[in-house]
Amino acid sequence: MSQFDYDLFVIGGGSGGVRAGRIAAEHGARVGLAEEYRMGGTCVIRGCVPKKLMVYASGYPGQVHDAAAYGWDAEVHGFNWTKFRAKLDAELDRLEAAYRGNLDRSGVVTHNARAVLKDPHMVELSDGQSFTAAHILVATGGRPFVPDFPGSDLVMTSNEVFKLDQQPESILIVGGGYIACEFAGIFNGLGTEVTQFYRGAQVLRGFDDEARGHVADAMQARGVELHLGCNVMEMRQVEDGIWVKASNGMEQVFDKVLYATGRKPNSAGLGLEEIGVEMGRNGEIKVDDYSQTNIPSIFAVGDVTDRVNLTPVAIREGHAFADTVFGGTPRKADHDLIPSAVFTQPELGTVGLTEEQARDEGPIEVYCASFRPMQALFAGHEERVLMKLIVCADTRKVLGVHLVGDHAGELIQLAGIAVKMGATKEDFDRTMAVHPTMAEELVTMKTPVRTA
Ligand code: FAD
Repeated sequence: MSQFDYDLFVIGGGSGGVRAGRIAAEHGARVGLAEEYRMGGTCVIRGCVPKKLMVYASGYPGQVHDAAAYGWDAEVHGFNWTKFRAKLDAELDRLEAAYRGNLDRSGVVTHNARAVLKDPHMVELSDGQSFTAAHILVATGGRPFVPDFPGSDLVMTSNEVFKLDQQPESILIVGGGYIACEFAGIFNGLGTEVTQFYRGAQVLRGFDDEARGHVADAMQARGVELHLGCNVMEMRQVEDGIWVKASNGMEQVFDKVLYATGRKPNSAGLGLEEIGVEMGRNGEIKVDDYSQTNIPSIFAVGDVTDRVNLTPVAIREGHAFADTVFGGTPRKADHDLIPSAVFTQPELGTVGLTEEQARDEGPIEVYCASFRPMQALFAGHEERVLMKLIVCADTRKVLGVHLVGDHAGELIQLAGIAVKMGATKEDFDRTMAVHPTMAEELVTMKTPVRTA
């Protein structure tokens, strides 16, 4: 019998912690897991899942409009926020219960409490209990970051946005990352007046420049009032909303203000500094390829390590950790060539290097097509899709794929397999086109638009 209460204690019941706990238990470990808020974590409760459901909700007016163009007698008569919220809440309750059920069935003992570390083998819970464990996994995720400025207490973040009782008539969204842009599309689609401020020159920093420009233009064409190079100076509560003064001189009153100005690792107040766990400047827990910290019994996975902050990555890291420590098969999570999607309207799907990154690494060919797809053309839209391949001129490997258009998230999952397998441009070309689709363009682009 081990000297410890548990073989593994997991702090955080989100994507990474739940996967790690379940797999460790399936390998025979005695596992405890503490969650201070709701089981499922950010992704399930206040991230990917509710967001995607809101993306769906916000897309219907456009589809009904298209239906009318195709001959249907169809009209949209307003969105019932209360009805949607009730369904959303019920769905999140169902998912949370499913997570709890899965943990129970795996034999993981769950504790509804906040946990902090007391020493390399001990956690203390907010309900007064303490447990010892041979290994401790910190999977506490991230939290929204709001800068300090006069009136910053008036804003909401992605933590609160899913809990709004009413649909705002107008909203200011501050930030240019994927979460800010996704919410701009959501509220715009639902019929809220959306203004977005971003202090940089273009939204979606880090993505391919051409794709960023394409998404930003389309968002504006759909009605988002985007102000680039613009920041909030000051805000104040007034009778009919929140008065905002911007760095470009603009003054306006908004119903609500949403800040999506980045996230920080959720590592403060966990007792990590006290026991000497090494952390980076942003508060991220430093780990090696096996998610082990400098204290051998303490591991960390997911957003708290600030490697690639996506749900599937946290899940893979958690799984690899459990296999390594409890399954007898040491393995690392693979962070190379991670496909991802931004659920803006239109969607952006991406894998591999951007044109800007690739041209710094060697000679490349860029294949790019931008066109009005059949479905939209018929419905009378001006919006174009973008299909872009970055090809290494020497090895012919496809280094990056960037797609903007309907279902780009679905498409990039499949393109990601080809890129991960090391497909060359010629592999793409010898693949027969699927006609008539948008994606056939990926295998029919013959001439590079530029080389670099
Ligand atoms: P989390 O899922 O954040 O889980 C951490 C858990 O730990 C939380 O439940 C928290 O309550 C708990 N906790 C924290 N401290 C303690 C403590 N001391 N004691 C006990 N419990 C504690 N990713 C995608 O892949 N696709 C998307 O479309 C996507 N959309 C997103 C949209 C939004 C609005 C946000 C905010 C995020 C989105 N993400 C998306 C990112 C994704 O949600 C995260 O990468 C993922 O949830 C990270 O998992 P994790 O296990 O590291 O942490």
